Amino acid sequence: LVERLRPFTSTIFAEMTALADRHSAVNLGQGFPDTDGPEGMLVEARKALFGGANQYPPGPGRPELREAIADHRARYGTEYDPDGEVLVTAGATEAIAASLLALTGPGDEVIVIEPYYDSYAAAVAMSGATRKVVSLVPDGDRFALDLDAVRAAVTANTRALLVNSPHNPTGTVFTRTELAGLAALCVEHNLIAITDEVYEHLVFDDAQHLPLAAFPGMSARTVSISSAGKTFNCTGWKVGWVCASRELTSAVRAAKQFLTFTSAGPLQPAVAYALRNELSWVESLRESLRSKRDRLCAGLAAAGFGIRPSAGTYFVCADVRPLGFTDAEDLAWRLPESIGVAAVPVGVFTDHPAEWRHLLRFAFCKQEEVLDEAIERLRTL
Ligand code: PMP
Ligand code: GLN
Repeated sequence: LVERLRPFTSTIFAEMTALADRHSAVNLGQGFPDTDGPEGMLVEARKALFGGANQYPPGPGRPELREAIADHRARYGTEYDPDGEVLVTAGATEAIAASLLALTGPGDEVIVIEPYYDSYAAAVAMSGATRKVVSLVPDGDRFALDLDAVRAAVTANTRALLVNSPHNPTGTVFTRTELAGLAALCVEHNLIAITDEVYEHLVFDDAQHLPLAAFPGMSARTVSISSAGKTFNCTGWKVGWVCASRELTSAVRAAKQFLTFTSAGPLQPAVAYALRNELSWVESLRESLRSKRDRLCAGLAAAGFGIRPSAGTYFVCADVRPLGFTDAEDLAWRLPESIGVAAVPVGVFTDHPAEWRHLLRFAFCKQEEVLDEAIERLRTL
């Protein structure tokens, strides 16, 4: 294995899920729902599968999906031409990797906000660029963006900023002020923003998802990435997309076409259907996730954890120190066997694990009885 990939031989999700399975633990580690997406979408997939949509779709994605994606993004006031400014990818993961491969390389620096989704560090490494990590900072119970720290991380070599909101693993949804600050920095220093918005619909209470591309000066310099997995409970479909200017889209396409060329033929019309017809289903998903978040948070608090409120995503972070533990990573590796629950230590998503050592990430995208079973087991800690 080449040196730049040596730190990335396994993922916490694969390892923790394998450990959970080995001990028949309740898996609140890897974030995936345990119920299916909207039936209409599944019916469309079956129709496509039996209707001959099984050969290579066009490289940029099927036109009806690109059109549905562009129409969906119009909800944010951002307009994209489905022909040239939208690219369908194999999940957001490929979109992130293809964007970094296409737009950054040796000598470039990419600012990544930690904790970060694990594929970011690996994809930056594949591109040959260098990651510059800026930590979120506690602001009361919330994790906030430290704009001064982001500013301080910018150098003459900074090429891009990778931004994830709603944020995995903290559940932070960046505010208008935080995003406006990032946008101003990008404009001032001529940076490209790559935004990971896979949880765009999963925001709770009064939180609102605001795409960075909609801020002044950002539409031409932002690669906006999302995916169907979280919005429609189909994480295994790996249908994602990029929306960006013609120039940026064609750059990302140049990388994508030699990674996979194209992706998931029969699933594309089904996702197009869902984007057009199933947003009220998504509304009910959001409501149910809000209530599951509250259920899990109440259970974790009753078990003695310190809860960090989550405004979006599938996840909530919990402080293990009130229970007398100091090392959440060590605890996470022991929990599946000791009490039959799996969670993910937040430190693995950072370059500074010591500073994040007290936090565990729990996924609440599970049926109520599964959450209740986990809570009951956690109360024996
Ligand atoms: N970004 C974030 C923040 C995620 O949590 C995930 C996975 N759930 C992805 C990207 C990957 O998305 P996809 O499955 O569409 O590749
Ligand atoms: N995004 C999911 C999570 O954060 C896991 C994705 C994966 O298994 N790679 O839990």
